[in-house]
Amino acid sequence: MTASDRKRIYFDHSATTAVLPEVHDAMKPYFLEKYGNPSSIHSFGREAKIALEDARKKVAVLLNADPSEIVFTSGGTESDNLAIKGVAMYKGRSKGHIITTKVEHHAVLEPCDWLKRFGFEVTVVPVDSEGLVDPGDIERAVRDDTVLISVMMANNEIGTIQPVREIGQIARAKGIPFHTDAVQAMAKMPVDVRADNIDLLSLSAHKFHGPKGVGALYVRKGTKIEPILHGGGQERGLRSSTVNVAGAVGLGKAAEIAKRDMEPTCERMKAIRDKLIKRVPELVPNSYLNGHKTKRLVNNANFRFDFIEGEGLILQLDFKGIAASTGSACSTGSLEPSHVLLALGLKHEDAHGSLRITLGRENTQEEADYLLEVLPGIVAKLREISPYSAERPMGPGGGESCVQ
Ligand SMILES: *Cc1c(COP(=O)(O)O)cnc(C)c1O
Repeated sequence: MTASDRKRIYFDHSATTAVLPEVHDAMKPYFLEKYGNPSSIHSFGREAKIALEDARKKVAVLLNADPSEIVFTSGGTESDNLAIKGVAMYKGRSKGHIITTKVEHHAVLEPCDWLKRFGFEVTVVPVDSEGLVDPGDIERAVRDDTVLISVMMANNEIGTIQPVREIGQIARAKGIPFHTDAVQAMAKMPVDVRADNIDLLSLSAHKFHGPKGVGALYVRKGTKIEPILHGGGQERGLRSSTVNVAGAVGLGKAAEIAKRDMEPTCERMKAIRDKLIKRVPELVPNSYLNGHKTKRLVNNANFRFDFIEGEGLILQLDFKGIAASTGSACSTGSLEPSHVLLALGLKHEDAHGSLRITLGRENTQEEADYLLEVLPGIVAKLREISPYSAERPMGPGGGESCVQ
């Protein structure tokens, strides 16, 4: 069987996911006949408003939040920016201290870095070799002028799940707002903003079968935060601009499905993940798991292979009809390995030979078996033809964007 006879296999669900047919169906009327602006008082506006508030409720239910605490945004990146810049710059504040970690998504690290220009100081806490943050390190980093702690719920590259409840407790006890980027956690583990002491939480629809370009920020009642988009005052003044109604409806539906299907879906993905984690190191010599063995997302398996280079591996897998990603190369033309893998203490050359498999609800054991069948041969061939010491070849497509 050649690759073209075979159905393509998608193992890159941490980059994005398909919109489910149910989600698509729910959204359609809000592009077509129900196109009103939710701020309008006539019937067109009212029906859009009702749909928007229904979607808000569904997102709130998934998080154990109140609907009034949900702000719709354009995605995970905007939610992270709003949380970080919004809290930092509250009431025109131009200095203060922020605590975050080395393994955050760029949507958290870059706003923190940008704030330094205005006088903010940032402590970037390290992680251990499995990617775990020590809550004690967070506590020790706290200063009198700390205005925000931001630690992700689960990592997008290596899948490591952070002890957010403990970190939230520390933040709460010290009266510091706690933000978590939960973009990768949604639909893959229960999330409860009350139990976890979370003040701000970012999520993105397209990472759990909703549409791209829409997300939400949970803002606990009473959290002091400033908008970053100023205008018509939508979303209770926190996010001006006419809400993407169809997108919000899609996000709401995706949230409802996530809650409904979480248990069986996670069980299925976990079984496949565990098979990969067990079999890959048995079948491929000199291969290792990146991230924590158990405290990891049910859909994430990330491996490192000595003497090879991730982009070549992705390209060879793509020839076989398998879509996966590396844990490396971000930004255009960059040969820099992933900041997450480097934070684990890996050497540059080790960080380059990584493969991220991220499962979704429709993946099967048979697909995993096919990967296990082709992977050892591909790795062996790459090791034969491309000793690591050789000039590193360009990756497919030149690497326009980041690993998400
Ligand atoms: C994908 C991702 C984001 C960005 O979300 P967008 O909706 O694509 O802007 C932020 N944080 C994490 C952890 C992600 O995986």
